[in-house]
Amino acid sequence: MSPFQLARRPETGARIRVSFEFFPPKTEDMAHKLWETVERLAPLRPSFVSVTYGAGGSTREPTARTLRRILQETALDPAAHLTCVDADRDAVDSVIADFAAMGIRRFIALRGDPTEGVGAAYRPHPRGYTNGAELVRALARHGSFDISVSAYPEKHPESPDFATDIEMLKRKVDNGATRAITQFFFDNDAFERYVERVRRSGIYVPIVPGILPVHNFPQMVRFAGRCGSHVPAWMAERFAGLERDPATHQLVAAAVAAEQVLDLIERGVCDFHFYTMNRAELAFAICHMIGIRPEAERAASAPVAA
Ligand code: FAD
Repeated sequence: MSPFQLARRPETGARIRVSFEFFPPKTEDMAHKLWETVERLAPLRPSFVSVTYGAGGSTREPTARTLRRILQETALDPAAHLTCVDADRDAVDSVIADFAAMGIRRFIALRGDPTEGVGAAYRPHPRGYTNGAELVRALARHGSFDISVSAYPEKHPESPDFATDIEMLKRKVDNGATRAITQFFFDNDAFERYVERVRRSGIYVPIVPGILPVHNFPQMVRFAGRCGSHVPAWMAERFAGLERDPATHQLVAAAVAAEQVLDLIERGVCDFHFYTMNRAELAFAICHMIGIRPEAERAASAPVAA
């Protein structure tokens, strides 16, 4: 496929769609940066944007503030992440009710990481929802929401094997999830094998790849180790020696992510979720390369009817 094929898969004409993930800012400065990012990416008309949620409700207010601002000041469709770790059912239910009252119709339902940190044994709250599947059921009971859940092409680090992992995904879908968004990965073959396993297990919801443009390679490697995402040797090779050269790092990061996305498009993928880390530049550049352009620019370059 030509990389210049604009926002459509050539053989089917299917539209390529993107969504963007943000995290709630902790300071005024970070809020300013996030808002610049939202303003830059909004004209790309994502299917939705999502705002993450901290363990035990630690970001309940900042997440709510960010969602409210998106609802009030943009035409974007925001999705609220929600975790159930370290919270009882009443507390989680009241967040669902508050977010719904605010106008939120999309949720990304997650169990969350153990409070002691990734790698510690997960202990559910004694009066809480114990995993993502139970949280999905609670959301479906509350209203008619669009519910996304997590998926792990390289399996979740706590899962003993793929079968256990996919069984959890099946429970989440059986309880009402209509889409799964993956943990970030760099090995497209692993993603394809995973989707095949998922389909063989009778799960037919879209599995949307989570794409992480690499803003800081050493930091990403540490994070990937905790999430169970494999960083291939060829990637280390490409970023080697760029620790003190941010401009080249940025160009390499855009190329690596664009290559990954273009390859996935060739394999038939139409939807992409970008982990933006509240920064617009790489996500914007990759979208540009796959033909997703700001609305005004698209209108200006559209052929004029004779
Ligand atoms: P679940 O789907 O409930 O479980 C994950 C896996 O653990 C299962 O696949 C299963 O294999 C295994 N497992 C769970 N329970 C059992 C059991 N009883 N027996 C055997 N195996 C079991 N974290 C945040 O804190 N805030 C966020 O906003 C956030 N957003 C995310 C968005 C996406 C798209 C993704 C992929 C992850 C996100 N995370 C977030 C991280 C997530 O919270 C962690 O990966 C967490 O460790 C698992 O949550 P989950 O919902 O995937 O868990």
